[in-house]
Amino acid sequence: MRSTIMIFVFALAAVAGVFSFSWGPIDVEFATLEIQAKGAVVKTIEAEDGAFPESVEVIESYYVIPEGCISCQICVGQCPVNAITMDDNNMAVIDPEICINCGICASGCPTSTIELLDADDCALYGVDADGNSELIQEELEED
Ligand code: SF4
Ligand code: SF4
Repeated sequence: MRSTIMIFVFALAAVAGVFSFSWGPIDVEFATLEIQAKGAVVKTIEAEDGAFPESVEVIESYYVIPEGCISCQICVGQCPVNAITMDDNNMAVIDPEICINCGICASGCPTSTIELLDADDCALYGVDADGNSELIQEELEED
């Protein structure tokens, strides 16, 4: 029975895509860069050889908007592939590498705080050593 359900779920799952974003050179005054969507970090970017890369790929996946999560963990129990865990702040986090984009968690979330990533919602932030973030570029364009 469970295998039948899993086949059904995989049949429902959308094919995951990848967004590719680019920007100009950035001073290495930040500890890291982040791609954020509605307050959620969907990609953390480290400097390589003393410079930040000028482009990055972001997997199209469902993600949790932090301010709406009430830590009920309903989504954790519903995910058929165990892609959702609770972080140190007891907020749900989805691993885009595991998520199959079935949308079950988004349908079941009581606060409607799980969304499918939209490139139009993404922006680039710089994060300093104390964890403070600063907006670098809004409305990132896809390559
Ligand atoms: S179902 Fe929604 S509110 Fe509950 S833990 Fe998951 S994301 Fe948070
Ligand atoms: S995280 Fe949500 S959308 Fe992704 S596989 Fe799990 S239930 Fe489906």
